[in-house]
Parts: sequence; structure tokens; C-alpha cells
Amino acid sequence: MKRPATITILGGGTAGWMAACLFQHHWGPNGTKVTLIESSDIGIIGVGEGSTPQLKAFFDDLGIAEAEWMPRCNATYKTGIAFEGWSDRPGFERYFHPFPTELDGHTTLQFIFNAYARRNGHDVVAHPDRFYVPALLARDRLAPLTPANFPFFTSYGYHFDAHLVGAYLREVATSRGVTHLDATIAEVALTARGDVEALVTDDGRRFGADLFVDASGFRAVIIEGALREPHLPFAANLFNDSAVVFPTPIAPEGPGVCTRATALGAGWAWHIPLTNRAGNGYVYSSRYIDPDAAAVELLTHLGLPGDSEVRHLKMRVGRVERSWVRNCLAIGLAQGFVEPLEATALHVVLATVERFIRTIDAEPDMPATREAFNAAIARRYEGIRDYLVCHYRAANRADTDYWRDATGHDHLSDSLKGLFSAWFTGANVEEEVARQGIDDIYTAISWHCLLGGYGNYPATLQPATGAAAQVDIDRVDKFVTGCASNYSPHRDALARLSANA
Ligand SMILES: Cc1cc2nc3c(=O)[nH]c(=O)nc-3n(C[C@H](O)[C@H](O)[C@H](O)COP(=O)(O)OP(=O)(O)OC[C@H]3O[C@@H](n4cnc5c(N)ncnc54)[C@H](O)[C@@H]3O)c2cc1C
Repeated sequence: MKRPATITILGGGTAGWMAACLFQHHWGPNGTKVTLIESSDIGIIGVGEGSTPQLKAFFDDLGIAEAEWMPRCNATYKTGIAFEGWSDRPGFERYFHPFPTELDGHTTLQFIFNAYARRNGHDVVAHPDRFYVPALLARDRLAPLTPANFPFFTSYGYHFDAHLVGAYLREVATSRGVTHLDATIAEVALTARGDVEALVTDDGRRFGADLFVDASGFRAVIIEGALREPHLPFAANLFNDSAVVFPTPIAPEGPGVCTRATALGAGWAWHIPLTNRAGNGYVYSSRYIDPDAAAVELLTHLGLPGDSEVRHLKMRVGRVERSWVRNCLAIGLAQGFVEPLEATALHVVLATVERFIRTIDAEPDMPATREAFNAAIARRYEGIRDYLVCHYRAANRADTDYWRDATGHDHLSDSLKGLFSAWFTGANVEEEVARQGIDDIYTAISWHCLLGGYGNYPATLQPATGAAAQVDIDRVDKFVTGCASNYSPHRDALARLSANA
């Protein structure tokens, strides 16, 4: 395949419209024609309201300012994720997982050193919240934007209304030249060789293209339905397969700057603050709780009566074996899904489309090129899956069958076994991450925050003396609080955006 002259995208969820914008932006000026077909009868999944910092890079790439899109999509800033109730270890019942900042270099050595000392039995402060500025931004509802006289970049993601982002991206894509059709595809026609020839609508219209992008959600109409690419489930070590969703009003003090992920009896609940409402959902395993009981548990957690009307969803957790097959690229839920705890789904959409564009532009289309592409995508999924599995395996609660099984199973990849072994034997985790070459998926800081944040340290500690006591925690506290004093309230930052919209 050379750079395609025509691209047909099946699916107008967030994945489809993101792909449409990127293909149009990068290849549209050279003549590539992009068409997106979606069915208003089928609709979109309409969840997925938290992002990683990759979304900022996407909007920057398209040249779209925050003042332009954020107010339109009821969006807020996100500095990381607060994990609550995942550990019953005193002092570790809650931890905040920060997105990176340019300030991290001043406190990471101290954090990793103290985590090492504590793993080896010394009583030193090794809770991640003490070492990273975004934990204070989240606590005090401060926007992750720095003033000109404090020029240290603080990376951040967003929370947003999935329906509004879809509609906004549709507007961007179509205004830049993408053709949009509302139609239901009833058949995928293949050539004698097995390539995709055309998408055929239920009223018999045919849409051909050089490249087909399957963004049809969990239906995976082209990649699995027509091309029969196998789906590899992750159910052995990621148990959650369902979600129940309910919105609530925003807190009187205004939206927070983090996602909250609170462990419940058979999974966990998200709380995502937008400017006009909060999104809430309980992600659970149907092997341990039925949908009605899950709804009651979510509503009780939110302090609401158990008979409110909720929305139920099923999740298909796993990935297709290869994302690029023949003349089809699968993205979004059609490509794979590893549950939303780390809010990585849209990140993977962007990474897939961007890598595809780079690959086609830079390399000849040889079998080895496709193998390398598919291996890179698979590696990313497995890396994210391992990090998610670590959340459950390294959690410290055993009050229900779900948690006993989630913290006790042995379905761990060799990579995760290596990391656990390094952490729990008091060895060097940074070296292990480097040895495995997985730093591009989750850094050593992330692994330390997760494993340390749930209090995975020896129960008995000795007073720290000598070298083990060398980190001056008062200095770290002073540095982190001093830095945090440079940020301004989230509410003010959102008001400024609306004023500039
Ligand atoms: C409970 C839950 C929580 C999530 N939370 C997050 C999160 O916090 N962060 C994150 O990044 N992601 C999250 N995700 C994932 C996120 O929702 C999706 O990655 C994102 O919405 C993109 O979905 P999609 O576009 O692939 O599919 P969909 O939104 O399902 O869109 C599929 C499209 O295909 C079209 N279609 C399907 N079949 C046909 C057909 N035959 N003919 C024509 N059109 C067709 C539909 O009309 C629709 O337009 C979450 C997912 C779930 C289930």
C-alpha cells in the first residue's frame, strides 16, 4: 500500500472522527479523499470522557486552541487519577497518580530512593503524594497551567463530554474536507484475493476505497466480521466486563482536576468532573455481581436512592490479533479495549493512526513493515494490560471474593513477574524497567507510584539511620508546596477559557 488516494472510515464515534481529522490533516492537502460513514440508527457508545496528555498533542497538531474546543465540550483539565480504597494499609488508603511535569526531576530521585529504602525495611516516607506537585493541584483544585514567571511545563489531560467531542470533531473534519454519510452498512464486499472492496449500505449503495478504517466499535464489522481477524480476550487477568453509568451534578466548589477511581465490592467506580455535570460509572465483573446489584452499589456509593434510572453497558476486553490487515486498519473499540481504569483508549487510537501515517509515509509496504507495525500495537496493548493487571494484583484489599481473586491469581506475564520480583525482593525497579525496555509505555516513576501508592512495603520497619535516612523530607515538602503555590484555581482557568471562546 502506498499513501491511499481514498480512505473510507466506518464509524463516527470518537475514534472515527479523530482518525478522520488526522488523515485529512496529514494527507488531505496532498489529495487523499476521506469519507466517514456512520449510522445514526446504531449511534455511538457515548462513554469515554477522560484522556491522557496525548489528547492535548492531538488538538495542538490540528491547530485547535483550548478556548475553541473546551467550552464547547464542557471540558475540564485533568492532572492525574486519584485511587481511593484500593488498599487498606494505614496511610495508603488513597494515592494520586500524577501526570509528568518538568518539576519531577527535583523529587524523583528522592522518591525512588525512599521507596527503595522502605522496600528494604527502613521507616522512611515513601508515599508518592509527598513527592509530586500534581497531587497538590488535585487536592486544591488548581489548574495545571503555569504562569510565565514559573515556566515549568505541567502535562495534563482532559475530561469532556464524549457526545460533544464527537460532534465537535465532526464539524472540524467536515469543514476541512471530509465527506460525511449517515448510512447503515449491511455488507462488506471482499475481492477474490480477500481485500476489502466496498462497504455496502442496507439500501444497496457501495463505497469503495484504497484504505478502509474499521472504527465500528465493539461490532468490529470489517476487521472481525469480514476479515475474520481473531479476537484475543484478556479475561484471565482482567475480570471486569460490564459497567453501569449515572451522571450527577457538579460539586458546589466547581469541577475537580482529577478523575477519581474508587474501589468497590466487585470493581471500581469512576468520577469524572465536567463543567456541567459529573460522569460516574461502576466498572465491574458480572461473574461477581449482577447488573441490578451493581446499580444499587453505584447509587449507594453516590449517596443516591437505589431506584434511579441507570445505563448498563457490556465491555469486550481484549484486542484483535493484528490491527492492520490487508487494506483495513482497525482503531478504537473495534481494535481492542482494556477497560477504562487508565483512560488509555483514545490514546491508543491516536498512537495507532499516527504510527500508521508515519509508517506509510516512510517505509515500503513489505510484510516486515506490517509485522513491525502490528507488533508495536500489540506490545502497547500488552503493556497497558500489564499495568492494569498490576493495579488489581498489587491492591491491598481482600474483603470480597472479587478482591481475593483479583489480588491472588497467577495469570501474570513474564514482564509483570519480573517487575514484581524486583519490587518485592528490594531490588532496583528502574533497572528492571530499563532491562525490559518498557519505559515508553509506563515509566519507572509510574511503576513506583502504583506499587508504592498501594503501600506495598514490609509490615515491619526499622528506624532509618545513616544512608537510608539521607532524603530530607521537609525539603521535599517545602519544594512541592512552594511549586504548587504558583498555580491558580481551576474555576478561574475555565472561566478565562469561556471568556475567550
Ligand atoms: C465503560 C467505558 C468507559 C470508558 N472510559 C474511557 C475513558 O475514560 N477514556 C478513554 O479514552 N476511553 C474510554 N472508553 C473507551 C471509549 O469509550 C472509546 O474508545 C471511544 O468512545 C471510541 O469508541 P469508538 O469510536 O471506537 O466506538 P463507538 O463510539 O461505539 O462508535 C462506533 C461507530 O460505528 C458505527 N457503526 C457500527 N456499525 C455500523 C454499521 N453497520 N454501519 C454504519 N455504522 C456503524 C456507529 O454508528 C458508531 O458511529 C471507555 C469505554 C467504556 C465501555
